[in-house]
Amino acid sequence: MSALVGLKPASRRLEPYRKLPEHERLAVCQTLVTGVLKDFWTMRATLSPTRVLRKHFRRVTSHDAQRFVDDVKEIALFTVNGVKWAYKGKLKKRTSVKLVFERIDARAPASPRELALKVLSEYEERLGVKTAKLVIRRYKTRAAFCELRSRRVYVNESLLGLGEEVIRYLIAHELVHLKLRTTRHGDEFYRLFHALVPPEAAGEAERRIVKKLFQLAEGDGAHG
Ligand SMILES: [Zn+2]
Repeated sequence: MSALVGLKPASRRLEPYRKLPEHERLAVCQTLVTGVLKDFWTMRATLSPTRVLRKHFRRVTSHDAQRFVDDVKEIALFTVNGVKWAYKGKLKKRTSVKLVFERIDARAPASPRELALKVLSEYEERLGVKTAKLVIRRYKTRAAFCELRSRRVYVNESLLGLGEEVIRYLIAHELVHLKLRTTRHGDEFYRLFHALVPPEAAGEAERRIVKKLFQLAEGDGAHG
């Protein structure tokens, strides 16, 4: 497989695949995977790991093939040229593997609104909570808020263009309020919220939101 061209097998690698140190095995997989993926949005390939591996290692068994498949799973989430990929392949029979890779962020959603709806349903499922309606409107000073009784979530449209992290931050925040049926920010709130949005990502999103709201307020002042 041409994907392995970049891999220079040293003579000491002429041993069973499974006996290689983990980082070398992963390097083999990584080379294969990145070599195969760089030009494709979605890659589907059926190949025989034993055949691929035999080019580099003296004795390859079906155990090696299974190990190879497991190793590829280890690097299932990886980045090539800034694009995230996931491995969804599986071993067929014992020595043939179907490698299926898909872009995680394949084709950005048509609009931030669409992305917001996608994030909403993802978090609804994770929290086990249902929103009555997502309302997206322009607000001058508010980032997002919710009504516990009507189960509506309101998000400031002006902030949606700030990226997925911000969208996740805003929606996760309001859904946790709906889940806990309170608008307070106690320990339980932050426990659930940070399970969806880790503190670092939340901090970054907050900075962007505050900056944008400040700009909106300034623009408003300048015009009036
Ligand atoms: Zn809140």
